[in-house]
Amino acid sequence: MSIQKIVVIGAGHGGFQVAASLRQNGYQGALQLVGDEPGLPYQRPPLSKAYMLGKISETAMLFRPAEFYQTEKIELIQDSVLSINREAKTVDLNSGKVLSYDHLIIASGARNRLLTLPGADLEGVHGIKTREDADVLAPLLGSIKKVAVIGAGFIGLEFAAVAAAQGAEVHVIELGERPMQRAISAPMSDVFRLAHEGWGVKFHFGTGISALESDGNSDSVARLLTTDGEAIEVDRVVYGIGVIPNAEIASEAGLAVDNGIVVDEMLLTSDPNISSLGDVASFPCVWFHGQHIRLESVQNAVDQARTIAARLTDNSAAYKALPWFWTDQGDLKLQIAGLSIGCNETVVVGSVDDRKLSVLCFRDGELICVESCNRPGDHMVARKLLARVSGLTPDIAKAQDFDIKAWELANRPSA
Ligand SMILES: Cc1cc2nc3c(=O)[nH]c(=O)nc-3n(C[C@H](O)[C@H](O)[C@H](O)COP(=O)(O)OP(=O)(O)OC[C@H]3O[C@@H](n4cnc5c(N)ncnc54)[C@H](O)[C@@H]3O)c2cc1C
Repeated sequence: MSIQKIVVIGAGHGGFQVAASLRQNGYQGALQLVGDEPGLPYQRPPLSKAYMLGKISETAMLFRPAEFYQTEKIELIQDSVLSINREAKTVDLNSGKVLSYDHLIIASGARNRLLTLPGADLEGVHGIKTREDADVLAPLLGSIKKVAVIGAGFIGLEFAAVAAAQGAEVHVIELGERPMQRAISAPMSDVFRLAHEGWGVKFHFGTGISALESDGNSDSVARLLTTDGEAIEVDRVVYGIGVIPNAEIASEAGLAVDNGIVVDEMLLTSDPNISSLGDVASFPCVWFHGQHIRLESVQNAVDQARTIAARLTDNSAAYKALPWFWTDQGDLKLQIAGLSIGCNETVVVGSVDDRKLSVLCFRDGELICVESCNRPGDHMVARKLLARVSGLTPDIAKAQDFDIKAWELANRPSA
């Protein structure tokens, strides 16, 4: 049966892109994009960076203006999907409406993992996931004197850099031993630690939190107690301690779920009429020995959306895109190409002192990931190199004045 009705759950990066790509690829049937956030679909990365700093407007964050959805006949429905009925091929919305589909795409993303310690419900404790979250926090920035950031991951550190730039005293509390420990190499972590310390950020590594406390006179947070017995006076707490995939509606509908909605290399769920993508989807990753993985990045959501749109418009191909990611912290732009899982050797090229460097990550002598700080040219070349068997070894990269761009050019396979 040809597909005439497509419903997309979630109007974030992946949901928007799959709808836009379906139209671009010539799909002419009904297309309903259901999102539970208010307003038009928007980009999330600026929330903890330029938007938080007031450097870009709400309009600049939108994927497209309202007219786009009318012109492209994408019906934008602001509602929440409560359940999926796979037999009837319908979804039930919070409003009581029922939508029917020939094909369903679940792009419901992930939500912030919440703090579960005493005092977590005090006022002045914030997460950053949605535009609404940023709209609460951004106007307060100028008046925050002391803020604790719980978690030294990407989002926590992006906020730490913003708050420090606004003159706040920033304490970052992290159970691990270094910044962004789960995502980046030790040499690059060091560069970011030193930069943050230069901006005045105080790190507390290897430290947990036992409680948040008020001053006794109000419901606002005033103190953070660490597991080391330290008491840090604060007037705000911002946490970034990971996310939980929004996969409940899928598991309740009987779809396979295991740390996200399980999909195959075509991004199909265990039901051939349902696809899934982005932060919520656990897919077999060719860059990780085909093992299932969930990636939380714009590239992953957007490229998976394009893969699904291509399949639904008769241009099937397995999902194989090289993962890449970026974060902006102060004047540092970190771009990561590839996955560093299993890395057992690193080579640093460029200048650590000038904070213009790349860390080449190898697994058993094979290049698997390149982290570039303020070296966008290296990042672009790394994406090309990683996409093929490059032959670049640690010994070659260790040569004095090694230049990844020149090496790629000299070793480019002939067409
Ligand atoms: C503050 C912040 C900064 C980030 N910075 C970067 C960055 O610099 N670089 C980068 O690569 N990535 C960054 N990310 C991650 C990136 O934004 C996500 O990986 C990407 O948005 C994932 O797209 P998605 O479509 O899977 O999910 P999302 O964009 O999160 O969209 C999912 C949408 O589905 C909605 N939804 C959920 N359940 C339902 C339901 N039942 N019914 C209707 N709607 C539903 C959600 O409310 C949400 O609007 C950042 C994320 C955050 C929060």
